[in-house]
Amino acid sequence: EPLIKFSSVNKKYGHIHALRDVSVSFEKGEFVSVFGPNGAGKSTFLKLLCTMTSPSSGEISYEGVPLKKLRDEYRSRFGVISHQPFLYSELTAMENLRFYAQLYGVKHIDERIKELLTKVELYKRRNDKVRGYSRGMLQRLSITRALLHNPDIVVLDEPYTGLDTHASDILTKILTELFDSLRTIIMVTHNMKQGYDAASRLAIIRRGKLVFDKKKSDISLTE
Ligand code: ADP
Ligand code: ADP
Repeated sequence: EPLIKFSSVNKKYGHIHALRDVSVSFEKGEFVSVFGPNGAGKSTFLKLLCTMTSPSSGEISYEGVPLKKLRDEYRSRFGVISHQPFLYSELTAMENLRFYAQLYGVKHIDERIKELLTKVELYKRRNDKVRGYSRGMLQRLSITRALLHNPDIVVLDEPYTGLDTHASDILTKILTELFDSLRTIIMVTHNMKQGYDAASRLAIIRRGKLVFDKKKSDISLTE
């Protein structure tokens, strides 16, 4: 049984056919980088995956169970990193993270927060209001927020956008650690280098269709 399975999934927004007949499976521990031009349907694909929207037709299942039947449990397995930071600017980093930790029912909250903030090099800034954070700091904090509850599946929409080299390196390191600890990672990115290097599998979506999907180990350089 695959971890996640899309069976003939279509998504339409009015007359826009954003995703066309997508059938694909993901196994536990895969790191998938999804590439494709603007408007191809990549964000729609991620949103379907984490139940932020539902298919117009077809079905998505998790360990063989249709998503419709396990929405809430399924959601808590995810850590989502998108451009929207989902942070409160008038609260400090610490206050934001405590709030989310309580929401997710995270145990040993303060140790967990300290561990993650240290990793993203924000621990010293933990008592600063988020309002004063730079773009890269915000992104690092939103990575922390998404990983607080130790998700099994990490979904990232253009996570490298706006990051400087140092912040990019931190993110790559975190993703590598997640991959090493058998988390499933699905990342949409324009960044060929970061997307290619870290991933175990590459996919391309074009005009709503999955036009390429291969494990990196199955790609020969002469192709
Ligand atoms: P990508 O992430 O690859 O840029 P999207 O999944 O965001 O692509 O969008 C795919 C297509 O669906 C685009 O034509 C986009 O304008 C359209 N679309 C996406 N979300 C919506 C929405 N909520 N309502 C209407 N059209 C949408
Ligand atoms: P992203 O770059 O993450 O795809 P977008 O700027 O395309 O973000 O979309 C931001 C929000 O607007 C998303 O929730 C998306 O579903 C929605 N959206 C995208 N395209 C359209 C559209 N043509 N009509 C209505 N909503 C849209």
